[in-house]
Amino acid sequence: MSVTSTTEFVIPKCTGKAFRVEQGQLLRVIQHEGKQVAGLIFLNAHNFKEQFMAEFSGGLSFFHPAHLGSHYKAAQLYSKVPYERIMLTVTDNPVGDHFLGPHCTKTMMDIWDAPGHRSCSDNFSDALSEFGMELEDIYSPSVLNAFANVSIDPNGDGSVNIAPPRSVEGDYIEFRAEMDVLAVISVCPDDVSAMNDHSCKAIKIQIIDP
Ligand SMILES: [Zn+2]
Repeated sequence: MSVTSTTEFVIPKCTGKAFRVEQGQLLRVIQHEGKQVAGLIFLNAHNFKEQFMAEFSGGLSFFHPAHLGSHYKAAQLYSKVPYERIMLTVTDNPVGDHFLGPHCTKTMMDIWDAPGHRSCSDNFSDALSEFGMELEDIYSPSVLNAFANVSIDPNGDGSVNIAPPRSVEGDYIEFRAEMDVLAVISVCPDDVSAMNDHSCKAIKIQIIDP
């Protein structure tokens, strides 16, 4: 008889949370109500300098022979140089929408004519503070924006298009941790753009011990 234990919790809308995922465990990021983006950062739980690097992971996936011709999509999540190790592997991703790029920030909100609006920066700051870190301890503002329906250059004119997420309640993306990691998650508080379909919702997390 195989025993599977699952830890489950909900991260409320417009907040951030950090928690550990041990090597071999599965992490599921789940749509609690649907059409909500979760920004994901990962750090080596034993060395916070070793951090997930979104663009690097996208580039390696793009150039990997197994993925040639596919989209700019992360299959393996690598840590930044000089580490360059696989931190997590995407094991299930039925919807397949995510954006390897920047999270929303104070300046982004200014540009969107919403000065002072809460951003993913605030969520990450809150989450990191529980582990004695600040936003400036994070190497890059680029993250894995799970469920984001962002397309780059859809019309061949260099524009970036943000469309409402296609994912609905119960949709998920699943990762297997290849090392002990600290997962830092921002439930994106952007109701200004179409990123979260103009309303902020919660995100559900499952950590599964296979
Ligand atoms: Zn955001």
